[in-house]
Amino acid sequence: MPAKIYYDKDADLSVLKDKTIAILGYGSQGHAHAQNLRDSGCRVIVAELKGTPNYELAVEHGFQPLATEEAVSQADIVTILLPDEIQADVFRTQIRDHLAPGNMLVASHGFNVHYGQLDVPEGVATVLVAPKGPGHLLRAEFVRGAGVPCLIALGPGATDETLRLGLAYAKGIGGTRAGVIETTFAEETETDLFGEQVVLCGGVSALVKAAYETLVEAGYQPEMAYFECMHELKLIVDLMYQGGLNYMRYSVSNTAEYGDYTRGPRIITEQTRAEMKRILEEVQTGQFAREWILENKANAPSFKALRRREREHGIEQVGRQLRRLMSWIDAKEV
Ligand code: NDP
Ligand code: MG
Repeated sequence: MPAKIYYDKDADLSVLKDKTIAILGYGSQGHAHAQNLRDSGCRVIVAELKGTPNYELAVEHGFQPLATEEAVSQADIVTILLPDEIQADVFRTQIRDHLAPGNMLVASHGFNVHYGQLDVPEGVATVLVAPKGPGHLLRAEFVRGAGVPCLIALGPGATDETLRLGLAYAKGIGGTRAGVIETTFAEETETDLFGEQVVLCGGVSALVKAAYETLVEAGYQPEMAYFECMHELKLIVDLMYQGGLNYMRYSVSNTAEYGDYTRGPRIITEQTRAEMKRILEEVQTGQFAREWILENKANAPSFKALRRREREHGIEQVGRQLRRLMSWIDAKEV
């Protein structure tokens, strides 16, 4: 069944006119939500940690950031745009007791609501308004008069009124200019985790590394392996982004296209598909969420060790050197 998509005509900004909206966290998403909503005529207040760069940024943008408790107390609508790993703690200690019945809690990712990490009080409605792009794009598109597509989902405590308010919120950040797709907290959370684990972050990194190692172990120069298995990925992804697989295949050579059809399915085998199903199941059953939440409670020892080890991989060393040869690349290091 095709998704339901809302546009400008389906949303009425006037339902927000007597509401105060608190944006908690002035980071990637926070700075865009706050400014777009303000430019849409909404009353917006911001909460940030005093003395941090994003606090100063909010001040520069004309906000007077408050403490989280204070902002929540003043607001009718509270948007939690803090890093996902700290939301549960901040919610328990600084948000929960300051919410009142009739308030609405907005999240831009479903993880904490879906996996029950926020003990939302009775009478408070939850809604997901999730832009499908980073905050700087959300802001830039809005300023240009356009928008970034968003997802909307009703969570625990939501009513018809929540949908009206949520759609108005999505309009206020520019989402309905592009289209706001109806989903559920479960679907957004599970597909997001699955996508980043199997394709975007996990799958692609593992594929690139394994191919690089195969070439290097076979005696090819690491520089050549880097170019073929990592550097050129951008070209391919850009083509797919613009016109799907078909446009990518149209643009590459016939030799590359034939290799794609005949060799690709030998890389993603039945065994790989079975593993994808297991990973999806770990997401659906909450096993992954539990592991990641406990990992953070323990101060992330495995995460930090994995991060350290991965940084030392050969492809990272050779890549750093090669990127310096390509002056057009805005080379980054952390
Ligand atoms: P960021 O890390 O960019 O921003 C979070 C902000 O919260 C930072 O400014 C941080 O300050 C501040 N902060 C940290 N702790 C506190 C605290 N205790 N009280 C007040 N402020 C605090 O996060 P994102 O904008 O990336 O993510 C926010 C939400 O949006 C998440 O749920 C994420 O999943 C979702 N999302 C993100 C997208 C993205 O592309 N970034 C896309 C769609 C959804 P400091 O910088 O000093 O740590
Ligand atoms: Mg994601």
